[in-house]
Amino acid sequence: MKALIAAAAMFAVSPAFAQAPSPKLDTSAGPISAQRISDITRELASDPYAGRGPGGPGEPRTIDYLVKQFQDLGLEPAGDKGTFVQAVQLYRFQTQPNGAYSLKAPGLSKVLQTQTDLRVETQRPVEHIEIRDAPLVFVGYGVTAPERGWDDFKGVDLKGKIALILINDPDFEAAAGDAVADKFGGKAATYYARWTYKYEEAVRQGALGALIVHETAGAAYGWNTVVAGGGESYDVVRKDPASARLLLQGWIQRPLTVELFKAAGLDFEAEKARARTAAFRPVELKGASFSADYRNVVQQLTSRNVVGAIKGSKRPDETVMYSTHWDAYGIGAPDAQGATIRPGALDSASGVGGVIETARAFKAGPRPERTILFGLWTGEERGLLGSEYYAQTSPYAAGKMVASIAYDTFHPLGPTRDVVLIGSGQNQLEDRLRAAAASRGRTITPDPRPERALNYRADHFSFGRRGVPTLLLMALAGGPDVVDGGRAKGDKWVEEFTARCYHQTCDRWETWHDYSGAAADVNLAFEMGRALANSRDWPEWNAGSELGAIRAETAAQRK
Ligand SMILES: [Zn+2]
Repeated sequence: MKALIAAAAMFAVSPAFAQAPSPKLDTSAGPISAQRISDITRELASDPYAGRGPGGPGEPRTIDYLVKQFQDLGLEPAGDKGTFVQAVQLYRFQTQPNGAYSLKAPGLSKVLQTQTDLRVETQRPVEHIEIRDAPLVFVGYGVTAPERGWDDFKGVDLKGKIALILINDPDFEAAAGDAVADKFGGKAATYYARWTYKYEEAVRQGALGALIVHETAGAAYGWNTVVAGGGESYDVVRKDPASARLLLQGWIQRPLTVELFKAAGLDFEAEKARARTAAFRPVELKGASFSADYRNVVQQLTSRNVVGAIKGSKRPDETVMYSTHWDAYGIGAPDAQGATIRPGALDSASGVGGVIETARAFKAGPRPERTILFGLWTGEERGLLGSEYYAQTSPYAAGKMVASIAYDTFHPLGPTRDVVLIGSGQNQLEDRLRAAAASRGRTITPDPRPERALNYRADHFSFGRRGVPTLLLMALAGGPDVVDGGRAKGDKWVEEFTARCYHQTCDRWETWHDYSGAAADVNLAFEMGRALANSRDWPEWNAGSELGAIRAETAAQRK
């Protein structure tokens, strides 16, 4: 409402501006070729690439193809030792079945089964995990958010203990009058809502392990999704895994937790209500403990990122990053037609097409003043691993990265009137994209499903979590307003694709696909990045963003 009043005032003092006709809808894509995005998508989604599983049979061919694209464009290598390729060291962990797990509390002694009662994994290179009678501490939502005056831990000692943590953020179930209401974006998820954050924070707080209490609404998915990985997980190889990863992490079923609380003399719902207040303090479950004894098979594998650059003419250490992931889900169980390859055409061979086209557009113009980086990452589908590895090892400082722009899963519906923006409301890059769109008579539609937290689930966020302002173009939040068919057509496609084809065998290139809408969106991101690369601007996080404080830590680098 405030913004509306400001706009009205502006019109009042500026009649010339008020009378200027808004530009006619222009969905052209400048130097970005929809045909080439389609060709690249079709190629990478074809059978010889075998669904591009990281470390799988399609990887060598994929890497060769991507390197050749960057070479042909004349990009400068930005991988290992003067090449376009960066070796990425990964761990694959597999919690072995038949581990022993138990819960004890006064009057309660329970043997637990993985998959049924809990999910457990260890992302450290440790092959045998034995935890005996570790105390359990309920830490509410497990959030430390100084910018919101929130600390669930209050300095509690978690050494040798297992933290029990609620999913989502503290205002997710708040009633309108509660003090916490809207403190964490309401139904929209902040990073604090994500299970990845909960584990990371539990490590920082010194916990031995963490179990997240599964609740379907807060998680936005059922228990079947929690255990879909069957005990398998991945991480990048880290210098000091114990400082970044818990000895045990996982999820526990809600009914079991309710029972455990009861045995410890606590009411789960009452404790949850307390966790929605800033005054919440962790509660040790009196007389309760958790034991685990299981094997963890640890394999090390090498996959690859492909990274190219256009070095800036004036400020080469300041960067604008464009990226996406090349990996998809490889080969799986046969579908009804017997197909086993999950080709990842839209997710995200189309994004690869977008990054390559962006690079081509930059190469066609004068050398920008700042460096442009182009990253094609491995292991996104296993947890943003390739981009995380690059972020950990890059010679370019995150503090001097102007923007991290990612493309992931374009829609194939042709031109649209709007761009649906994931995770909107976070930073000033959105304002720039909005301006670029408005100059073509197009609009930005804010994330219609912010509770899905897609903004924390793509490669831009490996840099975002280091404070770099981010922008994600991804067609999965909600349907765009398609020029030929409207929002209804867009919504119908998103629904069907998400339900049927996402990560499945039918995410394939189709003859009816029309990539001209994707090309127009890529062109907006290109124009925005080019303007940034020839400026001295540093877009910022909006007040209240959970990432602003991290950016502020490196402010001195941007003087
Ligand atoms: Zn993707």
